[in-house]
Amino acid sequence: MSETAQFQAPSVEPYWWSDAKPSPRPPFTLPKAVDVAIVGAGYTGLSAALVLARSGRSVLVLDAEDPGWGASTRNGGQASGDVKSEFVELIENFGLTFAKDLFAEGNRAREHLSRLIDDEGIDCDLRWCGRFNAASSAKDYDALGRETEALNKHLGLDAEMVPREAQHQEIGSDHYFGGQVRPDVGGLHPALFHKGLLDSVENAGASIASNARVTAIETERDRFTVTTALGPLSARDVLVATNGYTGPVTPWLRRRIIPIQSQIIATEELPSETMDRLMPKRRMFLDTHRLHNYFRPSADGSRLLFGGRAGATQKDPRRSGAHLFRQVTTVFPELASTAISHSWSGLTGYTFDKFPHVGVQDGIHFATGFCGQGVVWGPYLGHVAALRLLGEQTADTATCLFDGRAFPSRPLYYGKPWFLPAVINWYGLLDRLRL
Ligand SMILES: Cc1cc2nc3c(=O)[nH]c(=O)nc-3n(C[C@H](O)[C@H](O)[C@H](O)COP(=O)(O)OP(=O)(O)OC[C@H]3O[C@@H](n4cnc5c(N)ncnc54)[C@H](O)[C@@H]3O)c2cc1C
Repeated sequence: MSETAQFQAPSVEPYWWSDAKPSPRPPFTLPKAVDVAIVGAGYTGLSAALVLARSGRSVLVLDAEDPGWGASTRNGGQASGDVKSEFVELIENFGLTFAKDLFAEGNRAREHLSRLIDDEGIDCDLRWCGRFNAASSAKDYDALGRETEALNKHLGLDAEMVPREAQHQEIGSDHYFGGQVRPDVGGLHPALFHKGLLDSVENAGASIASNARVTAIETERDRFTVTTALGPLSARDVLVATNGYTGPVTPWLRRRIIPIQSQIIATEELPSETMDRLMPKRRMFLDTHRLHNYFRPSADGSRLLFGGRAGATQKDPRRSGAHLFRQVTTVFPELASTAISHSWSGLTGYTFDKFPHVGVQDGIHFATGFCGQGVVWGPYLGHVAALRLLGEQTADTATCLFDGRAFPSRPLYYGKPWFLPAVINWYGLLDRLRL
């Protein structure tokens, strides 16, 4: 089958939506006033809403689209609790104590995710199955070795190195130079997780509004006037949870978030023998390219879902999907004639310091900047932001390293990342040259 034939008609909806598609909330009359208005109905906004509604606050979550339309139902479902810097890099730049504290925070966030899913009875295929971090060069394999040593020594993690000659135990590919198994990383079905969270929030008494874009947030004495597509309302507090979709309504945050498109393609169903060969342990996968590829089996184990950065400017997921498919066949040549059933993209929210942030600016609360790792950080930091808003001191809020941390922007950056095409092309070249 030619590449064009394979891309003739993939659905541009996320594969996950076949199990749980974001849908409009029933129409309702906008209240005149609420205790808390939350902007954005992804994991972060919903997790905050759950805490606030259960504390007795009247809560309205507003989304510009259907709740879940953003990254929360489009992502790869890899649950890591990592930040964008390696442990050894954190030690070099910030010292051992900070690096250890940050990993402890990641543990708390992963535990929070497990507890949330258990407590709410959400059926979303969460499995702490481990992740194979595949080395894209011999140099990267050595760097993973140093990382593994440091993780095991300082954190007591049981990370393992798998040399190239043994990597077929982990992946049915000869493309990589071996890799590292991180046992503490897992995966879930992102859209089912979002749906379960949404149900819990509604059961807790919060209201959720679709097609309710917020266009202005203004202070009026000790309250906010929030202008929405459904009309104005007054809120005692506002919490913004728009991450990669942060727009002009919060210009201060927009100057600090770099929206980066990420893309995923799903194959047609593959024979179970093929899946057993390609991903024998059904783990999550990430490679060490600067422009990472991330991949995994679908939750039912029947397909490969393969993600990455498919260029800086391409808007049509079919075309960028074709680009991504070339990478699939580089890693798994045996899939050269496999058809692609879905090809979709969404926006992640990066930050200039590569950390997520929770805080308050001009009286507006926020939790944002998850740098493509929001499956664990979004629900956790939404919960921390809500506790902060309530003024509650708990172990989570007392120690949260991302709470109130200086949140950098850059001169001449106003929310449109004009520098990305150059950076992505440069990183792509370095990756191809394996430098
Ligand atoms: C393709 C892809 C793959 C990814 N893979 C992974 C992964 O494997 N693991 C991982 O941990 N993370 C991954 N991520 C990142 C993860 O999905 C996000 O970090 C996380 O979903 C962020 O959740 P959120 O609730 O903060 O924001 P979102 O889920 O993006 O929700 C933000 C919402 O805000 C709404 N909004 C924006 N502006 C307004 C406004 N003015 N008024 C009202 N509503 C507004 C939007 O409509 C949107 O629904 C991936 C992301 C993408 C796009």
